[in-house]
Amino acid sequence: MTPEDEGFLRRAIALAAAAREGGDPPFGSLLVGPDGAVLVEAQNSTITDGNISFHPELKLAVWAAQNLTPEVAAGTTMYTSCQPCPMCSGALARSGLGKVVFALSGDQLNGLKTTGGFPDVPLEGPALYDEARVPVDGYYA
Ligand SMILES: [Zn+2]
Repeated sequence: MTPEDEGFLRRAIALAAAAREGGDPPFGSLLVGPDGAVLVEAQNSTITDGNISFHPELKLAVWAAQNLTPEVAAGTTMYTSCQPCPMCSGALARSGLGKVVFALSGDQLNGLKTTGGFPDVPLEGPALYDEARVPVDGYYA
């Protein structure tokens, strides 16, 4: 962790504080391009936008996939106030971004909570393999 990393993390923490002040959960993130310049910032807006997916990490992963070339994305770092949740981690894996640097770990976040958490939704499957494979077969060749 470099002094530059810590500076960008402090900006992510400031964005988290701004999200909370605006009525949303306290999380913020930014992307820093290969040249060290801030490309874009985001705050959690799940409450004010009424969208459960509006975590800042997910917003920026989508932004990166839509706006950066693969080469630039690979040289871009996400700085975020907290370790990305499983939803955002899935999007990050598809974003092409090169690295994520976070402040609070998921365990540290949970240690600061007295309530909350999300129950797992029961999953059933697999089923109908012979039918379900038809639209997939050959797509990933
Ligand atoms: Zn998330």
